[in-house]
Amino acid sequence: MIVDLRSDTVSRPTAGMREAMLQAPVGDDVYGEDPTVNELEAFAARLFGVEAALFCVSGTMSNQIAIRAQTQPNDEVICDRLSHIYLYEGGGLASNSLVSVRLIEGNRGRLTAEQVAAHINPDDVHFPVSRLVSLENTVNKAGGVCYDLDEIRRIKEVCLKHGLKLHLDGARLFNAIVAQGSDPQDFGRLFDSLSVCLSKGLGCPVGSLLLGSKELIRKARRIRKVMGGGWRQAGMLAAAGLYALQHHIERLQEDHRRAKLLGELLQAHPDVQEVYPVETNIVIAELRAPLKAHKWQAALKERGILISTFGERAIRMVTHLDIHDGHISFLSEVLPRFSIQKEHK
Ligand SMILES: *Cc1c(COP(=O)(O)O)cnc(C)c1O
Repeated sequence: MIVDLRSDTVSRPTAGMREAMLQAPVGDDVYGEDPTVNELEAFAARLFGVEAALFCVSGTMSNQIAIRAQTQPNDEVICDRLSHIYLYEGGGLASNSLVSVRLIEGNRGRLTAEQVAAHINPDDVHFPVSRLVSLENTVNKAGGVCYDLDEIRRIKEVCLKHGLKLHLDGARLFNAIVAQGSDPQDFGRLFDSLSVCLSKGLGCPVGSLLLGSKELIRKARRIRKVMGGGWRQAGMLAAAGLYALQHHIERLQEDHRRAKLLGELLQAHPDVQEVYPVETNIVIAELRAPLKAHKWQAALKERGILISTFGERAIRMVTHLDIHDGHISFLSEVLPRFSIQKEHK
């Protein structure tokens, strides 16, 4: 048995999703003529209570477009130091938008309104213009933790007071929505732009959505084209997105339940120092020194269990559409019988 816990991006389209993809009416989306893409964008905009949406290739692309559309060269973007937009998008903020970044050390990747307010530059020629605040929900690097909606409301007030735009990297926003029982419209109301991945927990082969005002999405469509992201009969992919929004949201609870079980298994393991609190579908554990994450990864791989490393000592496991209770039982047999401590003696 192979248990692939490296990421929620590894899931494969379900039979129902593939069927929806095969049946999708398509057209040329650069001409605005793909009925399925148009339906997905309209459906998503309604779901979040915003004016418009744009179907993009990836979460990186929709984040980068959102930032480009809402900044000028030399502006500054405020975000947590663990942010995907800073750590894992290849430095795209610099090359795509020519902006600098103000990194804040939040609480497991989450900022407070006071922290945001304290890092807005004064109106002085020495400083870049603080233009946009970017939040991530859930926070990947901190183990899938969720933002408190009230804190986001307070951050929004700070942004309004200082004329800053507010962006959400919601690659796993639906995990937060399901875990907290919130409403997509709560988020649609608060953010100027939202990026939501379809290819993570929702199980699509490809795609992310950028959501916002008509004006923002009009600009975003131009930027997407410049980046080479204008696609043609993308309706087959959009059909997967529509299917996921209609069938795969509630079931995220299953992923969260299984992630909690994994967290408990790891917590009880002699090689593990600490497991980050498990709120959604990501489990991060720190191994005891001097154990090395890549050794754990290699030893588990021999047993058919694939995981990611997150730095020298941390490992990450992510549950998703293709992880079932049988896989968790398999892990509950394998993990307690396995340790790399002997290799270090
Ligand atoms: C996965 C992810 C993205 C986007 O990744 P792509 O692989 O480009 O789709 C953005 N933000 C976070 C927090 C992510 O986990």
